[in-house]
Amino acid sequence: MRQRIAFLSEHASPAARLGGEDAGGQNVYVDEIARNLGELGYEVDVFTRRDSLDTPEVIEWTPGVRIVNLMAGPLDRRPKDALWPLMPEFRENLLRFMRRTGTRYDLIHGNFWMSGWVAAELGERLALPVVQIFHAMGLTKQRHQGESDTSPGERIAIERDVIRRIDRLIAQCPSERAELVDDYGADPAQVVTIPSAVNTDVFQPLPQAETREALGLPCDTPVVVYVGRMVPRKGVRNLLRAAALLIQRRQPLTVLLVGGETREPDDAVTPEIGVLRRLATELGIAEHVIFTGKRQRDELSRYYSAGDVVVTTPWYEPFGLTPLEAMACGRPAVASAVGGLTYTIADGQTGFLVPPEDPASLAARLSRLLTDDALRLALGRQARERVEAQVTWPVAARRTAQVYEELFTLAGTPASRFVSASYEMPLEQTIENHYGAG
Ligand code: UDP
Repeated sequence: MRQRIAFLSEHASPAARLGGEDAGGQNVYVDEIARNLGELGYEVDVFTRRDSLDTPEVIEWTPGVRIVNLMAGPLDRRPKDALWPLMPEFRENLLRFMRRTGTRYDLIHGNFWMSGWVAAELGERLALPVVQIFHAMGLTKQRHQGESDTSPGERIAIERDVIRRIDRLIAQCPSERAELVDDYGADPAQVVTIPSAVNTDVFQPLPQAETREALGLPCDTPVVVYVGRMVPRKGVRNLLRAAALLIQRRQPLTVLLVGGETREPDDAVTPEIGVLRRLATELGIAEHVIFTGKRQRDELSRYYSAGDVVVTTPWYEPFGLTPLEAMACGRPAVASAVGGLTYTIADGQTGFLVPPEDPASLAARLSRLLTDDALRLALGRQARERVEAQVTWPVAARRTAQVYEELFTLAGTPASRFVSASYEMPLEQTIENHYGAG
């Protein structure tokens, strides 16, 4: 019988359009891991919050994968930091869905701290094993964002609570593992490191001259590209400051920025675009900066490939998918030496690492890459080879499946904490024991 996985991701649906403030790497992770698990023979239901009447309750997504949009609060879009009070309802409606459709699961996989809490609750109540991936940790966010961190006050305490209550934690890279163990006191034996990855079929090198022509970019000026959410912590301001240093030194340059809440760049709906526009004007480089707005995955190879170098210099980064996408497109990435970026970028081989918020260091690395064609092309080639060989989603999904299988085996042994009377109980009975009928 095929094992059924409940994949919980309250704010990040695989079906969402990416590039806005709350739609980025987690959506990609959930989509890629779920669809690859589907290909491995698991039945995966991805539970997200329903935010519009136009969204059906159940979407048949890919073979073996459904998206279930659960009611939790009003049918509207709201920032992820406003969703926490809705989580008890999310939990209840997940149980109702199970009862109504007669679906039972063999394992729960939580994403982010809020779904982690729901996963821990359901894991205990239904006596099911739980795997959790946080994607980002509240303590790190608070350390870097201080007053401007809009996370609910309970976030860090809930994260600690989730860690105590679930079976396995997935860390996306060694630095996330260290956060879980050192900052949160997770048991090292509980943490499995499974690097996230890139889809090397979707992200492919395209001929640069053609992509520039298609995008209306000048063919003879070097292009530096940023792709990602337009929020202060992504450090795009740092990129503009570095670009200004290069332009002052007469380096010809175009900076191409992709991301934002809408397809057309709009300061009103993406305030960071407004900030960046004003900064570019202040720095005297406005005519060198192109704002593109958000684009979808199938269009992005063109943007990455139009660039000579791809830059991302966030203040901190739990993992960071965009440099891997750049590398898959055969472009070297220059990134801050923080978090997952120190793991994904081989400094000097597939790109360069620089200190965050240090425009002079970034400018120095860009200058080197833009003036040394042989080096730039070699790093780009090596970048593509590295991701093709090591960093693909089927590999990440297989490793995730190994964690599941280990837990299924443990679930059958007396030593396991998930062996309980209710594990063998029919689902309906288990749910009613906890929530009462109806
Ligand atoms: N992205 C996109 N369109 C955009 C901007 C970003 O599809 O206009 C995608 C990008 O390709 C990447 C994800 O959003 O897959 C961002 O993930 P990353 O891990 O780099 O950062 P996060 O958003 O999770 O902080």
